[in-house]
Amino acid sequence: MSKLEIHQIPVLNDNYLYLFKDPETNNVGIVDPAVADPVLEKLDALGWTLTHIINTHHHMDHTGANLELKSKTGCTIVGAKCDADRIPGIDILLEDGDSFEFGSQSAKIFEVPGHTIGHIAYWFEKSDALFCGDTLFALGCGRLFEGNPAQMWDSLKKFRELPDQTHIYCAHEYTEANARFAITVEPQNKALELRFADILEKRAQNIPTVPSTIAEEKATNPFMRPDSMDLQSTLGMVGADLVSVFTETRRRKDSF
Ligand code: ZN
Ligand code: FE
Repeated sequence: MSKLEIHQIPVLNDNYLYLFKDPETNNVGIVDPAVADPVLEKLDALGWTLTHIINTHHHMDHTGANLELKSKTGCTIVGAKCDADRIPGIDILLEDGDSFEFGSQSAKIFEVPGHTIGHIAYWFEKSDALFCGDTLFALGCGRLFEGNPAQMWDSLKKFRELPDQTHIYCAHEYTEANARFAITVEPQNKALELRFADILEKRAQNIPTVPSTIAEEKATNPFMRPDSMDLQSTLGMVGADLVSVFTETRRRKDSF
């Protein structure tokens, strides 16, 4: 069973784009193209032809090159049906539970509101790949610009159900700052302590810390762990409901 071939392209300050190909059909997708030139250069270097833009949400640092890439390559733009008005050039409109067919691969679509209301994620099960935009980050989650904490927690819960080996292809390298916050709210978490050291080492050498896996996030990301006793006791919320614990964790991170 062949898997998607995925290339990570760092752009702007801390964005990651993902360029990927289905080896069986040569379909090529780019996730959330903020800018066009690095994508065109990478396509050129690989000898690939772009067929799809895969958008997770409307923000400019995710859709900024939609129209330029579409006019230069004739590619098809895929995004959230409920946010179609804000996705430039959108052709294929997707909603929760849909399957997006991409050559020999298919992605399950999750609506994951929180960061924005119309945010979606793409789970390519056969490739163990989740393209989740600004919903889940390594050791963090997206800021709540449009949604509320209960919505974001519901979104992250969908990801907690995914297989442990699923790779989290998130859209930003925010990991070090996230890690510095995470250790303050889960000071007893040994797995987090080890991951923290590893992250500092990687960032000191400018090595990406992304993608991580669902298993790592479930073990160390406080936003995936409102049921953690360590977290709850740091917050003074032992036994509180999970939405409240998540809400307080997000609130503290916002002012960290
Ligand atoms: Zn965003
Ligand atoms: Fe972003």
